[in-house]
Amino acid sequence: MIKLKNIKKVYVTEDKKTNALKGLSIDMRKAEFVCILGPSGCGKTTLLNIIGGLDRYSSGDLIIDGKSTKNFTDEDWDTYRSRKVGFVFQSYNLISHQTVLENVETALVISGIGREERRKRAIQALVDVGLSEHLRKTPRQLSGGEMQRVAIARAIVNNPQMILADEPTGALDSENSVKIMELLKKISKDRLVITVTHNAELASEYATRTIKMKDGEILSDSAPYKDDSKVKSKESKEKTKNSFMPYNLAAKLSLKNLAGKKIRTALTSIASSIAVVGIALVLACSNGLNSFIDKIQKDTMSSIPITVSTSTYDLTPQIEAIFGYVSSTAKGENKNEENDKVFINHTIKNLLQAEGVTNEITDHFLNYLKGIDEKKVTYDAVKNVSKKVYRQLAIPVYSNGATKPVMVMESNSNSWSCLPSKDVVYEQYSLVAGNYPTEYNELMLVVDKNSSISDTVLAKHLFDLNAIDESKEYYTYDEILNNVLLNEYRLVLNDDYYYEDGGLYKEKTVDPATYIHKYYRPETKIETIKSSLLSVDYIKSVYSSIKCYDENPYSDDGATLKEMGIPLKIVGILKLKDDTQYGMLTSPIAYTRALDEKIIEYSATSKVVQAQLASPDKTVTDGKDISGNPSRVSELSKLGYAKLPTEVKFYPRTIKDKDYLLNYLDKYNEINGDNPDIKYVDNVGAVIEVVRVIVGGISAILMALTAISLVVSAIMIGIITYVSVIERTKEIGVLRSVGARKKDVVRLFVTETGIIGFISGVCGLILTVILTVPLNVLMANVTGVGGFVFLRWWNYIAFVFGAVILTIIAGLIPSFMASKKDPVKALRSE
Ligand code: ADP
Ligand code: MG
Repeated sequence: MIKLKNIKKVYVTEDKKTNALKGLSIDMRKAEFVCILGPSGCGKTTLLNIIGGLDRYSSGDLIIDGKSTKNFTDEDWDTYRSRKVGFVFQSYNLISHQTVLENVETALVISGIGREERRKRAIQALVDVGLSEHLRKTPRQLSGGEMQRVAIARAIVNNPQMILADEPTGALDSENSVKIMELLKKISKDRLVITVTHNAELASEYATRTIKMKDGEILSDSAPYKDDSKVKSKESKEKTKNSFMPYNLAAKLSLKNLAGKKIRTALTSIASSIAVVGIALVLACSNGLNSFIDKIQKDTMSSIPITVSTSTYDLTPQIEAIFGYVSSTAKGENKNEENDKVFINHTIKNLLQAEGVTNEITDHFLNYLKGIDEKKVTYDAVKNVSKKVYRQLAIPVYSNGATKPVMVMESNSNSWSCLPSKDVVYEQYSLVAGNYPTEYNELMLVVDKNSSISDTVLAKHLFDLNAIDESKEYYTYDEILNNVLLNEYRLVLNDDYYYEDGGLYKEKTVDPATYIHKYYRPETKIETIKSSLLSVDYIKSVYSSIKCYDENPYSDDGATLKEMGIPLKIVGILKLKDDTQYGMLTSPIAYTRALDEKIIEYSATSKVVQAQLASPDKTVTDGKDISGNPSRVSELSKLGYAKLPTEVKFYPRTIKDKDYLLNYLDKYNEINGDNPDIKYVDNVGAVIEVVRVIVGGISAILMALTAISLVVSAIMIGIITYVSVIERTKEIGVLRSVGARKKDVVRLFVTETGIIGFISGVCGLILTVILTVPLNVLMANVTGVGGFVFLRWWNYIAFVFGAVILTIIAGLIPSFMASKKDPVKALRSE
């Protein structure tokens, strides 16, 4: 069955050629016990390895079962080894982290035999070699003789046609040597056993045939044999089941190996998990950063919507909001190397120019807007008309500081925030007291996250600072909602506000000094009142610019004599939610759209509006030219009248949606024909640009950090795998000798690195989760946003998956190196 025809083996090393075998021709019988004797270095091991298919002959032919092996592929050799050959080595070559039973089973797993069958046969083989007591022990717990018997059991378990034993007794004492020889003799009853030994005595006692070698040649053969059967060339694919290593064996071997080196595995995993932690934290932070920026973008876009307006309006809140963002961010393009100049950033100028934009909003335009994608942009077409509102204020009227009620016009009422729909408001605000307006004359007070409003803001909106007790730190919600002096404004209607004087309509307002002079101190010179009124700084700042309504409805003791105008009452308080940075309601007073509608309704019949409608080219208030359409609309809006919306506010949901909107609006000017062009105001654009630059920079840094972590982690895994490959060279040899393919070796190491990767991934994520806790506390202090650093559920999965993939990739090169290892050399290594 085995026939060597003129087998030669030449080892070529850098400097010399070694003729290890110099043309051997031997025929072996189907069953015999062959002993090969010879001095060290004469080529015995080489011969055995060639017969066993571990090594390749340089020339000649090895005939196996009548077939030439000249055209054998690696795969054919693997199959041959796993099917027909069992190896026994001098150094046993047991896999030390497996039990005795598992060592024996390994050979069967590779040849693809089922679990039950495997176990049964492995146990039988161990019983046959007399080791039934030691199944669960590991090789380290056995004596040399016992270990060699395990090796023999492993060699015979697959029931191969031949057993090749290279100095199986070389490391044993004579007593054990005898036992092993007896065992081999027993085995040789029905198969070919070829044993290399130094011990001529043992050979002559047990062998049925002794071959003596010297210098790669045969000296003598005690029982030569000539096999005359015909040699066929290798048959066209005899389809036997190829040997292979299933993944579960690879996983099991790797796990066992890792379990045997718990500390190292733990250290490796923790070390590489640091890379995972790094990456995970970077991702967690950028998650946080992105959602933080998203939030800011959304907030700014709602507090500073893109507007198409018929009139100029107060941009102060917008300017303040913008400066909140960009105050510390110098624009890149202003960078200048010249040292002797101061460069001015024209932010305000640009904004003020934008203020001059006026439009005429037509039905044509409103119709065009109906085509807007509501999923991307919501818009509010509001008839934002001017409101004449006054308030009763206690002002020091007498020189001794005594106060009297004065009717003061609320000059900022035109910048009051118009409430969008309830849902939109409640996205950013929560109702903390009272109720949402149900009537047109109901207002809301808007407070910040801390429920506070600064007194300058209160003064601006005419809360009576004089009436405010200095020792009072706060008003309760109830106090505000129940105190008429605090919560009530009064709306003056046009006919009460404008009076005709020489063809022009004048406003019924006077300055505070005149008011006091007229209604309270007619006997005092107006200059005297003025100087006393402006003597106190804070009064100067608050009251020097205010106007008073020129009528006094109060009696001398302060009681109201006459109910004037329509009361506008604060009925609820909105508080900015914690997670909102900049709310959409920029004024502390918010009103309903119904109020605008009501004012328009009243104004429509008023004398001043009628007169203005009849005078299309000149204002009726001061005779200015308004022949242009936009200014006519704007003039009417100032008088509290509008037919069409005076302003359209656009709320895009994202930056991309904003681009969509601006395109959409730009397109209108191309297709609007004779209708007037539309100019929009986009104050948020500049802010977003800055945010984009910052985000871009930070992302770049994070990317660099991530890349470094990745590289470090990959290199480390590569090194660890390499070390493992070196350590497990022997195991690779053993696996190869029982028929494992190169692929299987790769699989083994890839599985091992994959397991390390998995552990690192999981450890890394656990560490990350722990680390996010203090990081979040820190970020909450810095940014005021809780839960800043976070991972999404799919990040976790991606990380474990990514760590496994990464380590596998990093482990591939050493794994391929391992698979390339010549099994002969692998087995020779100690
Ligand atoms: P034995 O087993 O009889 O002691 P070997 O078969 O191991 O001898 O070696 C036979 C000869 O081939 C020796 O001279 C040895 O140095 C050489 N040899 C064995 N393996 C290699 C190798 N991989 N590369 C180069 N020379 C080798
Ligand atoms: Mg040898």
